[in-house]
Amino acid sequence: HELYVSASVGISLYPQDGQNAGILLQNADAAMYKANHEGRRNFQFSTADMTELAVERVLMETQLHRALEREQFVVYYQSQMDLLSGRLVGLEALVRWQHPELGLLLPTKFIPLAEDTGLIMPLGKWVLQTACRQIAAWHKADLYPGRIAVNLTGNQLKSDKVISTIAQILEEAGCQPDWLELEITESVIMEQHGRSFNILQQLKDRGIELAIDDFGTGYSSLAHLKRLPVSRLKIDRSFVRDIPQDASNKAIARAVIAMGKSMGLRVIAEGVEKNEQRAFLAAERCDEIQGYICGPPLPAGQMTERLSKRSGLHLPQT
Ligand code: C2E
Ligand code: MG
Ligand code: MG
Repeated sequence: HELYVSASVGISLYPQDGQNAGILLQNADAAMYKANHEGRRNFQFSTADMTELAVERVLMETQLHRALEREQFVVYYQSQMDLLSGRLVGLEALVRWQHPELGLLLPTKFIPLAEDTGLIMPLGKWVLQTACRQIAAWHKADLYPGRIAVNLTGNQLKSDKVISTIAQILEEAGCQPDWLELEITESVIMEQHGRSFNILQQLKDRGIELAIDDFGTGYSSLAHLKRLPVSRLKIDRSFVRDIPQDASNKAIARAVIAMGKSMGLRVIAEGVEKNEQRAFLAAERCDEIQGYICGPPLPAGQMTERLSKRSGLHLPQT
């Protein structure tokens, strides 16, 4: 085997970046972290705002560690609706961090950090548990929001115990496998190739549905896609945003819908906010939509209210 090795280099200079070896190393480390994030194989010099960021990161990391035991995470639920019938077909579970000083933080603020530090494992497990318990509770209360979709990261998928952990969570929560859908991003699915195929197949065999999230942002091999045991494609929000003005986004959305359908997959568009977007997607025979037009992500209490009032079970009339 021929191996290729690349390096990310972080550089700090004496005396401007630090008066002693400890500080210099710490700043070089922050610069290396940036080099890693800029796609590796490059070098970065330490800067003042990097140091600030590094300090902020360490602080956030400590707080993130405590957030789980302090019960600061909350799961919000967002509706997914069928375009033809207008009916609610499912909910996506989206985590938020109720930070004591910074307020409600969106996942983009802390999921990457949770992934880097390994905290995504306990956090992801907690989200799955919470969502499964919630859907079981809704069923008990005679409320049927459809399947519940939970996001899974690459690290979770890679874990040896992923199948047994999920099975155990379902059992404990009293949640049937076919109430659950797992969303995996296109880039994660493609990155893992053959490895993930096996795991995905096992999940599918147990009756859990699988969706490819953020479709169109990664580099899918169509040959690989064809073999994957997934049932849904989620068109990324970035392609929906400027519809109907942006001709190339319209072309992409149209192509993804046509491709998904020809592969026998259901296609759902993310981030649908406006009637024009909805009309375009309906005309293209997209199956489902998710976005502010169907409602914002809501905490469990408010979602329960919407479900029991039967409002929120249908798309508003255009
Ligand atoms: P995603 O899975 O693609 O989730 C959709 C995101 O789009 C959500 O952002 C949602 O609030 C937002 N959104 C929905 N409708 C609209 C709309 O009409 N307009 C606009 N502008 N945005 C809309 P959010 O909640 O900030 O989540 C961001 C990402 O964080 C998610 O993207 C997902 O990849 C990740 N994430 C969220 N919860 C979890 C989780 O429990 N575990 C993991 N691993 N990742 C999560
Ligand atoms: Mg998602
Ligand atoms: Mg997405």
